[in-house]
Amino acid sequence: LGTQEGARSGGLVSRLFGRGDSAPRRVLDDEMLESLEELLIASDMGVDTALRVTANMAAGRMGQKLSVEEIKRLLAEEVTRVMEPVARPLPIFQKTPQVVLVVGVNGSGKTTTIGKLASQFRAAGKSVVIAAGDTFRAAAVEQLEVWGQRAGVPVLKAAQGSDPASLAFDAMVKAEEEGADLLMIDTAGRLQNRQDLMEELSKIVRVIRKKDPTAPHNTLLVLDATTGQNALSQVETFRKLADVSGLVMTKLDGTAKGGVLVALADKFGLPIHAIGVGEQIDDLAPFDPEDFARALTG
Ligand code: GDP
Repeated sequence: LGTQEGARSGGLVSRLFGRGDSAPRRVLDDEMLESLEELLIASDMGVDTALRVTANMAAGRMGQKLSVEEIKRLLAEEVTRVMEPVARPLPIFQKTPQVVLVVGVNGSGKTTTIGKLASQFRAAGKSVVIAAGDTFRAAAVEQLEVWGQRAGVPVLKAAQGSDPASLAFDAMVKAEEEGADLLMIDTAGRLQNRQDLMEELSKIVRVIRKKDPTAPHNTLLVLDATTGQNALSQVETFRKLADVSGLVMTKLDGTAKGGVLVALADKFGLPIHAIGVGEQIDDLAPFDPEDFARALTG
């Protein structure tokens, strides 16, 4: 598996004070606090969260001389504290098929994430079915089929432009017939027409509940780390469109450090089930709060 730290270098504090132990110790004063606040805010952490993290870090330490390594460690501890409650793998239900609806804007990494999850569940001995619910984008369906092949998982599709809800219903039937453990349903991500999308998503939910009143058991929102603050408004929007139960953040292998995840954790408290750390099938890692905090602040 990829890790966040491996692919990245140079977190926030290094950018401010340089790396390593050769840097001189510094007095924790108002000026330093302000620099740290600015740094965290610039990382998309959000003003309130940034102020709280720095205040907690400084509590009882004002006037002390700290090494750069100590500053990194203290900040990372505070960020870890915020992130620990939301770090939770996708829960496995006893009830089968477990139905997971996957939502998010186009390009966020939905298809890729579904493929990676399918592969992980397959490796764990689960049988998986995927439904290509974005019936309007032919390319999306094709991509999903490629991922299905890679993961060794069947992908159900329908004619282009046909009703995603009826595909979802057929997929429920098929998943039940096959005794599948997990059914993942991809959905459209056209935010340009929210009303349409809302109707489409709520119809999918209505229809799958005819087969299983407890479904969907999870609604995963996939977010792209490179969109920074945008992730906040995407969560707000998708929570209005669907009953989002957890998040996956993709593209944390690039330069994006995902500071916005801290703001998200603080504001919404939604579980972070996994993170995308590359384009390959194994590039989906559990969300590790400590790794994440160290990579962000380091
Ligand atoms: P969708 O439109 O939401 O289904 O998005 P896709 O799954 O097609 O992904 C869009 C692009 O992002 C593709 O080029 C993927 O290879 C890429 N991508 C997805 N997840 C990751 C990730 O974790 N890291 C990187 N570097 N690229 C990713």
